[in-house]
Amino acid sequence: MATNRNRNRTRRSTGKRARTTAHAEPSHSKVKDEKSVIKLPASITVKNLSEMIGVSSIDIIKNLMRNGIMANINQVIDFDMAATLVTGFGFDVAAEKRPSSATSTKRKRSRHFMEDDPILLKPRPPVVTIMGHVDHGKTKLLDAVRKANVAATEAGEITQHIGAYQVEVHGQKITFLDTPGHEAFTTMRARGAQVTDIAVLVVAADDGVMPQTIEAIAHARAADVPIVVAINKIDKPEANPQRVQQQLADHGVVIEEWGGNVICVPVSAKKKEGIDVLLENILIVAEMEELKANPDRRAVGVVIEAQLDKNRGPVATVLIEAGTLKVSDPFVVGDTWGKVKAIFNDKGKHLRKAEPSCPAEILGMDSVPQAGDILTVTNTEKEAHTLAMKRHEQKKAERNAAKQISLSNLFSQMSEGEVKELNIVLKTDVQGSIDPIKTSLERLNTEAVKVNILHADSGSITEGDVLLALASKGIIIGFNAHPEMGAVKLADREGVDMRSYDIIYHIVDDVEKAMKGLLEPTYVDVVEGRAEVRAVFTTKAGTVAGTYIIEGKITRGSMVRVLRKGANIYNSSVSSLKRFRDDVKEVTSGFECGIGVEGFTAFEQGDIIESYVKKAK
Ligand code: GDP
Repeated sequence: MATNRNRNRTRRSTGKRARTTAHAEPSHSKVKDEKSVIKLPASITVKNLSEMIGVSSIDIIKNLMRNGIMANINQVIDFDMAATLVTGFGFDVAAEKRPSSATSTKRKRSRHFMEDDPILLKPRPPVVTIMGHVDHGKTKLLDAVRKANVAATEAGEITQHIGAYQVEVHGQKITFLDTPGHEAFTTMRARGAQVTDIAVLVVAADDGVMPQTIEAIAHARAADVPIVVAINKIDKPEANPQRVQQQLADHGVVIEEWGGNVICVPVSAKKKEGIDVLLENILIVAEMEELKANPDRRAVGVVIEAQLDKNRGPVATVLIEAGTLKVSDPFVVGDTWGKVKAIFNDKGKHLRKAEPSCPAEILGMDSVPQAGDILTVTNTEKEAHTLAMKRHEQKKAERNAAKQISLSNLFSQMSEGEVKELNIVLKTDVQGSIDPIKTSLERLNTEAVKVNILHADSGSITEGDVLLALASKGIIIGFNAHPEMGAVKLADREGVDMRSYDIIYHIVDDVEKAMKGLLEPTYVDVVEGRAEVRAVFTTKAGTVAGTYIIEGKITRGSMVRVLRKGANIYNSSVSSLKRFRDDVKEVTSGFECGIGVEGFTAFEQGDIIESYVKKAK
């Protein structure tokens, strides 16, 4: 223990190390052809970029929106963003003048705001999430970190649980997200808000690498977030840190002692040992990452927690990403807005302002925002209000733009240049099936699209798997692997393509066909409207249901099913649709109409006639 601590200290004081990151290998498959080369300046307006590359400003703005940036035509965008766009439009990029900071070599985190001129950027504290297998001590470690810092807390302050907290080590701050585990991490990421800079992977020394450890590694990698390993419970007699290190290496996390580049710190959350070394090492990784933000601009932040407090009204904890949030600032957050009435820190202390990476509990919102919503300070309250409305629309557009990949739409998205790799989460019944499937799938790689197995493991398909696929725009392939109920629901709600197979050949065949655009689409029923039967009439033309449209619309000729007490009793189509005596094409909600259903006469009061269309998945 002691030697390890000393060694880490020495390393910190010399500060000379290779980049300490466990980033995923970048997996770009570049299609080289005769493209025009665009020379980009350090920053450029949307309008000028549009003129430079001959792509309409609207298309550029649409693409920016897809990247989570709301821009107008005079907006200045930075080199990196412009380069991403320009490459996406099929050009090659040459730098006229690269920005001087190291941002261009940094991993691309989805940002919700224009990056500032590098000169204005100042170092900011790292934001850390603790991940790992259940019972390996994540909560205990979060607690130990908080308590190790108790000396820095002023007397009389009581720690509040606001979703994140900050500690101070040698005068430098570290922000910890208070929700351990990769589920919260990936949920935020799936919503387009990645706030974590560093993942601490907790592995119990007496238990070793377990399924959720492997999942956590996959999640951190998919997000391109560096990992610091904390081998916990070293106080236990049966602790075996060497075995953990070996197991981690087997999963591609090679620690420094083993010749890799991942920092590993032995700790005991229970005995509060090794915590200071862990914190120091987090700071080292943070230094390597050169985390920066401009504090002198209007604040932008991400909501990490929000609720309605019966005394204080809507309350949200916001992690400031850039700028400084002050009391009285007007702001828009998600599709709500407000004016900062008060700011509290994680110790319940009133703050006048909150700087980058600071978790701030704020009051003064019109309604409760959602975790993952972006807060942006505006000029005036009126602007905030107007923006809130616009954001509502934008959110809708973003949801549509962020279309999940499915095997059915893969080819069209490839053709539009939107997809260069097919991310797959693979779950099998037994470990032995993983390799053959992986190898056969990877053999399908082409110039245009690369198969990328994000995560492969045996066991049932969990919500975590769906979240990973969702956040990485991937699909899930199950081979004799049963999906859990929660996973089915989530995949359905978020439109994640989840497919089950029992023959390897069929997996390979489907993926290959999808890559060539030859896969037959699968269809799902999408409900268009519902009508409630209020009376039954028999006319010359047959039996007709007198109905009231309670939802959506009913169209003449559309497919319908008759539901009685929730059960589907008949499938057919609309044979006649009348308003009073007139034949009509469609009737929308709030109106009464007469509906005839082909081949069905046994209507009863209270039946529901549901119309639907078949849509390709
Ligand atoms: P989580 O599920 O990862 O959040 O795990 P917890 O923090 O709830 O810890 C699980 C159990 O392990 C609890 O009973 C803790 O008291 C215990 N535990 C956590 N850290 C240590 C440790 O360093 N040493 C020992 N002996 N027990 C620990």
